[in-house]
Amino acid sequence: MTIEQSYSSVQQRITDAARRVGRPPDSVRLVAVSKKQPVEKLTALHELGHRLFGENRVQEMRQKAPLLPGNLLWHLIGPLQKNKIRPVLPLAAMIESVDSVELAWQINRVASELGLFPEILLEINLAGEASKHGFDPDRLFTEVGDLLACERLQICGLMAIPPMVAEAEEARPYFARLRALRDRLQTEVAIGLPELSMGMSADFEVAIEEGATLVRVGSALFGPRN
Ligand SMILES: *Cc1c(COP(=O)(O)O)cnc(C)c1O
Repeated sequence: MTIEQSYSSVQQRITDAARRVGRPPDSVRLVAVSKKQPVEKLTALHELGHRLFGENRVQEMRQKAPLLPGNLLWHLIGPLQKNKIRPVLPLAAMIESVDSVELAWQINRVASELGLFPEILLEINLAGEASKHGFDPDRLFTEVGDLLACERLQICGLMAIPPMVAEAEEARPYFARLRALRDRLQTEVAIGLPELSMGMSADFEVAIEEGATLVRVGSALFGPRN
């Protein structure tokens, strides 16, 4: 399949999934996960009109960004080390992977120094997996006060990478749980959290049915990674 074909196929699947549950297709944004993909493939997708890309490493984002048109939007979707905050803030339109209060404080401080108000998502470790980053869903309610005190951060919603499952349907309860958590948080702290980043190549349609507003799709668009 060419990129053109896979792009239109993924877009059609997004549209169909949204319509199945009565959502407007444009309520779902596609984050093209370009990690470990050559710049030529990103250029090809950009030429088809796509603008939103996701990288999981700051280093890789920094290498690719100067080789691509300036009107691209980058989302950071992987762990952020303290020493990478300063370079990533001016580059990324959103940091989807804020996984602790300490990281939020550090981003807040650097953002203040740089005069920025970064958009972020809170990454949630839904199943308490030791191998995954993210807030414990229960502790979130005690930590949210500290997060809201970060006056520079625009907290837009939640992100999660659910446990690996064999079938997309098995991921549905996790997606539903993330949405329920968002709903509860929104009610308790009275802030708007419109974004839910969930769903990858194997399960983005199920995620959309459960309310995803951002789907992070890599291999279904670009093919296997190097
Ligand atoms: C790599 C990655 C994806 C995309 O995975 P695919 O299965 O290739 O779609 C999505 N989210 C995160 C956080 C990733 O690291």
